[in-house]
Amino acid sequence: MQYRAWFRSVDGSPGRWPLDEVIYRAPSGSLLEVEHDLDALRSRSAAAWMKLFDDRYLRTRWPYGSGVWGKKEWVQPHIADENVVSLLEGGTNLFWAERYGSQIGIPDLWIKQCGTSHTGSFKDLGMTVLVSSVKQMIADGQPIRAVACASTGDTSAALAAYGAAAGIPVVVLLPRAKVSAAQLVQPMANGAIVASLDTDFDGCMRVVQRLTEDPTIYLANSMNSLRVEGQKTISIELCQQFDWQVPDWVLVPGGNLGNVSAIAKGFEQMLDLGLIAKRPRLVCCQAKRANPLYRAYLRSREAGRPLAEEDFEPIQADKTLASAIQIGDPVSLPKAIAALGRFDGIVEQADEVELANAAAKADRTGMFNCPHTGVALACLEKLVGAGTIGKDDRVIVVSTAHGLKFTEFKTRYHQGQLPFEAPAANVPVELGHEPQAVVDALHRVLDGKM
Ligand SMILES: *Cc1c(COP(=O)(O)O)cnc(C)c1O
Repeated sequence: MQYRAWFRSVDGSPGRWPLDEVIYRAPSGSLLEVEHDLDALRSRSAAAWMKLFDDRYLRTRWPYGSGVWGKKEWVQPHIADENVVSLLEGGTNLFWAERYGSQIGIPDLWIKQCGTSHTGSFKDLGMTVLVSSVKQMIADGQPIRAVACASTGDTSAALAAYGAAAGIPVVVLLPRAKVSAAQLVQPMANGAIVASLDTDFDGCMRVVQRLTEDPTIYLANSMNSLRVEGQKTISIELCQQFDWQVPDWVLVPGGNLGNVSAIAKGFEQMLDLGLIAKRPRLVCCQAKRANPLYRAYLRSREAGRPLAEEDFEPIQADKTLASAIQIGDPVSLPKAIAALGRFDGIVEQADEVELANAAAKADRTGMFNCPHTGVALACLEKLVGAGTIGKDDRVIVVSTAHGLKFTEFKTRYHQGQLPFEAPAANVPVELGHEPQAVVDALHRVLDGKM
């Protein structure tokens, strides 16, 4: 069977473009999305797709052991296997947050650990698709010199790694002093051209759109909907991990708003092809200091109607501990608003104190959360407190990055260097070397804990 996919405009204006064309917007100015030939995909039954995906899951046959490429027919059917650039992305732990969930009153809470990945964030899921597409385009003779992105840190790390693995030059534009040390060193180590710009992410985004007006420099931001095709496998994979059952809620931190639309797209493809029969509700979680979508959501609620693009106004995002979502003018806004509409969506926000304490509290139960996951956890606690999320609901929080990429955030929390109370702070006990003195001191500490 010949599986096919193409770009179409998300605003419904006519036209179809091949996936190997260098195009990011429709002539109308609208964002594009990938549309699959569903009739072709329907030639295989839902049961047969589920079995195929389960048979491939985390196995060794190239490239199908990847959580993304195990669903290749649904993602990028036209790419030859030898042009796939995979670092075994996906297949991440779905962590049963038993202790944290019971502390906040929802025992059926699960954390999708998308940060347990080659470069430490979910961005790997999209970047494997984008860079594989570029490798295929170059193999087909297209004159592409480099791939470029603007980034709050994680996109550049993923692009640099996949570009280096493929031998394709990479340019990353980063807002100066607004990414963590671990995030900055990743593209440096992978040999990317790292440009540190005197602006914020939104400023970098404007520059990269100018840079990629040259068709030989390919744009790797999530407004390029090839990335969304990889990221949508988050939803497919988490249903698969529940033997193809659908959770009641999925919460995800949102910045540029590509991921929330990707998650919706994954569920919709499963609905279209009969693998699942219902939708979860989606919650987009924003940092209060970078909350343009939340503000739009409030405006729509006050007006008593569904969230719409006319409710939205870009803002200047303030500095937040959740630096990867410090975005005031999200590029994927129209897709995200549409997705939230179809999934009975909610937008919630968390301030700096709430996000830091939620991350630290959950860490005490065996996680190691990045600040963005902290935003999602804090929003979860609010929605449970308000009774919106019920105590018997099955809830998934999408953890977007590995906590080890944000050690400055954690160190400052535990050393009391953040400008607020840190109830879960924990510092080393400073001791000498004399064995009995150390033992006695540790007994005193343990007794104190009882
Ligand atoms: C990119 C990123 C986000 C936001 O994803 P969007 O698709 O831009 O909304 C959230 N968390 C982390 C850690 C990220 O790297």
